[in-house]
Parts: sequence; C-alpha cells; structure tokens
Amino acid sequence: MSDINLKCACGTVQGKVSSSSSKIGTRITCCCNDCQAFAHYLGQDESVLDQYGGTDILQIPVSFLTISEGKTEIACVRLSSKGMYRWYAKCCNTPIGNTFSAGGPFIGVIHSFLDNAKTRDADLGKSRGHVLTKFAITPVLENLKASSLSINLTMITKILSWKLKGLSKPSEFFNNDGKPICEPQVLEQKHPKI
Ligand SMILES: [Zn+2]
Ligand SMILES: [Zn+2]
Repeated sequence: MSDINLKCACGTVQGKVSSSSSKIGTRITCCCNDCQAFAHYLGQDESVLDQYGGTDILQIPVSFLTISEGKTEIACVRLSSKGMYRWYAKCCNTPIGNTFSAGGPFIGVIHSFLDNAKTRDADLGKSRGHVLTKFAITPVLENLKASSLSINLTMITKILSWKLKGLSKPSEFFNNDGKPICEPQVLEQKHPKI
C-alpha cells in the first residue's frame, strides 16, 4: 500500500499522508456546527459538506502528514480564541484539516485535501459513520450514525497513545517553539448558525 497524496483544488499545496494512516487512523463524518461553519467560512459548503452537513474527516497522527509544496499558502482560522486550529490552502480555499494547539498529536484531515476521491474507501476503509448528528441539517439515517461515545473513547485512547509514542512531532503546522506557522485569524463573534 502506498502513501496517499494530498492536494488542494488548484494544486499549489501538495503533500502526503503515510500509508499506515489507513491502519492507525479513524475516519468519521462530523456534522458539528463548527465543521459546518468552517466550510461556510471558506465558501466551500457544496464541495466539503455532504447532504447532512457532514464533513468526511480522517483522524491521524499529525506527524503522518507532510507538506512538500506550497506551504506558504497555508492559512489558519479559529472560530473562537479557544477553538481548534482550522488549516486551509488560501490559494483556493481548500480545507486541509483541524488540529489542537502545538503538541496535540492529532489532525483531522478533511477529505477535500485527500487526492484519492475514487479509491478512498479502498485506501482508508469506510467511514465509521456520522457523529454529532444533532447538528445535521437534515436527519441522518440511523444506519449511517456512529456512536459518539464509542468514537470518543476510540479517539481518547488513540490520542493518548500517539502522544506517548511522540507522534505529535514533527508537525507541519507548528514550529518547534510551539507557535503556529502562521497567525490564525480568530473569528471572535459567534459564527452564524447555518
Ligand atoms: Zn490551492
Ligand atoms: Zn466537527
């Protein structure tokens, strides 16, 4: 199995995630307000969100992701001063992924940045399902829902183990001093409900 290429819509920002991402990662579809607001902020509702307002995300250790081209085009937004760091390619407003602050071992890579639309299920396995479905824009079919409790337990366990294994570094998004590679824009006021 080979690495999975990453590419923004215009091709300026490129990179890859290591092939072991498919084994170690968790794929979910997040319906939360904040993920919807991020797509909306980028003007990418149609390309990012599914019919329920869900975003297909691959959660992997941040050190599994490398950027090979166009790093200066990476920008960041936070929906509030305590919000996640939401990274995107400003050349074409392609969302890249969501991280915690420096030292957090995790990135949720957004499907738009994965250059494997046709082979995604084979590459990564099917999504575990939709989570935070109370925020969905239309009711999510029962058979598409994942248990938030079980996903949370899975993620807490994985994040702790990734942290212990030192997989939070290197990160393409934070310098060694813990500062983000670019100043995030913080949207202070509450983002509008979509
Ligand atoms: Zn681009
Ligand atoms: Zn979300």
